[in-house]
Amino acid sequence: MRKFILFILWVMIVLPMSGQENAYPANYARAPRFKALLYYSDTAESAHVDFAHQAIDFFHRLTYGEGYILETTTSLADYDYDRLRQYSVVIVINTTPAPGAEREAMEKYMENGGGWLGFHAAAYNDASTDWPWLNEFLGCGRFYCNNWPPQCAYLDIETLESPVTKNLPAAFVAPESEWYQWNPSPRENPDVEILASISPKNYPFGIKDVISHGDFPVVWRNKNYRMVYLNYGHGDREFTDATQNLLTLNAFRYVVSQDPEGNPFEK
Ligand code: ZN
Repeated sequence: MRKFILFILWVMIVLPMSGQENAYPANYARAPRFKALLYYSDTAESAHVDFAHQAIDFFHRLTYGEGYILETTTSLADYDYDRLRQYSVVIVINTTPAPGAEREAMEKYMENGGGWLGFHAAAYNDASTDWPWLNEFLGCGRFYCNNWPPQCAYLDIETLESPVTKNLPAAFVAPESEWYQWNPSPRENPDVEILASISPKNYPFGIKDVISHGDFPVVWRNKNYRMVYLNYGHGDREFTDATQNLLTLNAFRYVVSQDPEGNPFEK
């Protein structure tokens, strides 16, 4: 009986402690863990500029305590590959690099392990922008159609296995946005992992411009690159929902954590 009681005490007290003797639960930064570059346009359509200013505020708040260094720019003209590679992630808000050297530097950066977190118009590509690499990188066809006006939407989280979605509910109502549908859908690409989509329950979707059907992924990653694309990013309501903010934060943290030079959060 005494042996049994000792065994129970061992199970209750000693066993849970084993292996945790030195496991202090927090890892305080002794220096900024990484650098991020936020790239945006302040001459885009006004709803996209509104989003940019709020996104700058959102990511700036995440630097409190100097956990990382956030730099912002409205032009990549002075960012060659050697400069870009100093950043763990480039956050692309509402624009695309200019043809020529800017695009070539971005392509080289991403082809060599660079990090990319893109919103909304960062993925916009049509005959006027004409950047075939961007669609290769995104793993989908070009912009196909959109709802109008901007509106909230019921989003399905498609997997809870990803670090980007593991702490999210299976579905939530996202704040109002202009949502882009793609053709072909990124779901047709075996290298793409779809993380969230506009639920078919939303159809018919829109008031002026009404989308009636179609596969409608809005958050995904191309496994061939260190990237996550988030389709929202239109207007001044995008940071009003805690669940969507958590999704944004998760995606940012995930891209950074995959840095080929080591996970900065473990420094
Ligand atoms: Zn828009």
